[in-house]
Amino acid sequence: MTEAYWSGRLDFDGLASQATQLKQSAWMLMRDKGIDLIPSGDFSFYDHVLDMALLLGVIPERYRQAGYMPHGENDLSGAEGIELYFAMARGSTGGGGRTPVPALEMTKWYDTNYHYIVPEITPATSFKLFPERLSNYVTESAVLGIKTKPVLLGPFTFLSLAKPPSDSPAGFRPLDLLEELTSVYSEVLEHLASWGVEWVQLDEPSLCADISSEDIDALVECYGSLGSSPSRPNVCLSTYFGHVGETMHALVDLPIEGIGLDFCAGPRNLSLLEEAGGLGEKKLFAGVVDGRNIWVNDLRASLHLLNRLRPLAGSLAVSTSCSLMHVPVSLDDPDLEPYIDPELRSCLAFATEKIQEVVTLQAGMLNGEDSIEDVLEQRSLTIANWRKSPRVVDEAVRHRTAHIDGDALKRRSPYSVRRKIQANRLKLPSFPTTTIGSFPQTPRLRSMRAARSRGELDESAYEEEMRKEIEEVIRVQERIGLDVLVHGEPERDDMVRYFASQLNGFALTVNGWVQSFGTRYVRPPIIYGDVSRPHPITVGWATYAQSLTEKPVKGMLTGPLTMLFWSFPRQDLKLSEIAEQIALAIRDELHDLEEAGIAVIQVDEPAFREGLPLRREEWQPYLDWAVRSFKLATSGAADSTQVHTHMCYAEFGDVMEAISELDADVISMEAARSSMEVVGELSEAGYEREVGPGVYDIHSPRVPSREEIRSLLEKAAAFISRDQLWVNPDCGLKTRSYSEVIPALENMVKAAQDLRMEGVVGERTNR
Ligand code: GLN
Ligand code: ZN
Repeated sequence: MTEAYWSGRLDFDGLASQATQLKQSAWMLMRDKGIDLIPSGDFSFYDHVLDMALLLGVIPERYRQAGYMPHGENDLSGAEGIELYFAMARGSTGGGGRTPVPALEMTKWYDTNYHYIVPEITPATSFKLFPERLSNYVTESAVLGIKTKPVLLGPFTFLSLAKPPSDSPAGFRPLDLLEELTSVYSEVLEHLASWGVEWVQLDEPSLCADISSEDIDALVECYGSLGSSPSRPNVCLSTYFGHVGETMHALVDLPIEGIGLDFCAGPRNLSLLEEAGGLGEKKLFAGVVDGRNIWVNDLRASLHLLNRLRPLAGSLAVSTSCSLMHVPVSLDDPDLEPYIDPELRSCLAFATEKIQEVVTLQAGMLNGEDSIEDVLEQRSLTIANWRKSPRVVDEAVRHRTAHIDGDALKRRSPYSVRRKIQANRLKLPSFPTTTIGSFPQTPRLRSMRAARSRGELDESAYEEEMRKEIEEVIRVQERIGLDVLVHGEPERDDMVRYFASQLNGFALTVNGWVQSFGTRYVRPPIIYGDVSRPHPITVGWATYAQSLTEKPVKGMLTGPLTMLFWSFPRQDLKLSEIAEQIALAIRDELHDLEEAGIAVIQVDEPAFREGLPLRREEWQPYLDWAVRSFKLATSGAADSTQVHTHMCYAEFGDVMEAISELDADVISMEAARSSMEVVGELSEAGYEREVGPGVYDIHSPRVPSREEIRSLLEKAAAFISRDQLWVNPDCGLKTRSYSEVIPALENMVKAAQDLRMEGVVGERTNR
């Protein structure tokens, strides 16, 4: 409906009333299931962090200047408020008396695949509450006679997630403004109290990341002052995505009524709570039902845990470990997921089923274990049967992972040797040009895929269409003059789902959508069993594409970490072990591509950084197994095969050394938006191989000029030797149209040619 509003098919009133209906149906569902404290305020038109920014009046000056601040300035809940909201979320091209303005930055929400809008805070930011944005969800539920527990991002986390713009004074941290912000939160509490709200939840997931003792002091002061607000509801400070570490001691003493802890991602919370002597009179919101995964809860084990927690708090409320936004909605109706067989289905719990689990456990707590004995017995049986299922364990896979020897993790020769062999084979010019893999997914391609899944297009007709598309894509690239071509990935709707659909051990959902950002949703595959590759996956497409041209065509694979992090993993194996199984399947695919004559093979790892734990002390063990699984996937390549990798969507500064250890011959990275900084970071980390820093941002429809690209490349060349540089866009082109892609790539190729000319006169390259 948000997109219908953007395209003008829905007006503001229509949007608002659909939103109300959605919220109300969720509240009624929870009420009918028997949830006592029904959360509200978790509904969002785009992003809940941006919702908070507007509520608190954190609106950068440029949006006011562009004409997006409504006249009254006191009400951001109407049609004009939503225009401002979307301008901050997506940027705007102006019109209607307003001038164009770019969007705020977007970045990953902790270690999930959700992206939030980053609030921008300067030393001059003054906070101002826009309370109508608050009344919305309280009053809408009141109409139904449902009392809700509003859920708001807490002040500490809000400021931890905010960033100062680059021209702010050095040393300024948004958290410096915590005291000022606290008084606005006090106002929030007062409003909520005046509407009769009994409980409010303030989310503080940043307490599960590294936090300094000064920051803990600031937090204590903040909640001390909130606690002494003259009129307020009960306050629950809720944490998730890990354990709270040293902060536990501070939490137990805060003058508030509830604490939420995640016992799924942070099992250590139990011992921390015991050491701290418990919560005293406070209510513990015990996150024992995993909000990040889709597997059924081991109810008996949870009840056992709850019984251990009981003496550690004044009272206990069973809860999910975090918001349910990270899992799909429901499995209730078999028609929703026709391809998930009954055995697997019995082991899955999506959001609706998780709510039921919370209710069941709460009943078990109140009325004793016996009162839910049937459900417990049934659940234990389901879990035991699943563990024994022949689909879960594949002895051949286990045998293979148990016998990986050290040589399998090393390329045959060192990079310096490979580099010469590859240069001889590929004969590329300096500043070689390429793309990241996908070409525009045209409406025609989409409709063909849809026709195929409706059964209107048979497999051979579909393949024929894909072949035509590949030929087109090859011809386009030849005309533009690119050096290393791609087949364009027309056959893939999604880089993870495509491979998952061809591998054993993965299941796909039809309706299991999860928000990635704004109005973008993805359907993560489910990894339920040992992973293996029954047959080659990409070899046919790659060899067909190569047969059409003299230029090298890059084979294109999705790496083991990205396959893992963009899926729901099974729970009975360590992530590192799952990654290893996937890596072996990719290793085989890479080998087959190589045998078929493909000389350049790219293994995409955009999610490489995603697995990085929230706490720094846990980084190295992660990086060790992450690097190992990438190497397992790629190091079988012959010296003459050029292995590429690609990363994007994250700040990689922290992990540059690990990236260097991957030992890929070439890496392409997102760089245009950060103006080539990554190249400097890479070379500082001792990177000595080749790199293609993205020279233009594919998220924007703007076509970059030849001069602009050239000057970016020159900037990159200041950090790293010219003969290490490749020329390519930031990421795949699938979301763009040909009318944008062709001129952009033409300019890119011309910029590379300009630099080559310079090379002849100036410094000689050794290619
Ligand atoms: N090869 C993929 C593409 O071009 C890479 C996508 C990604 O990095 N997210 O679409
Ligand atoms: Zn990318």
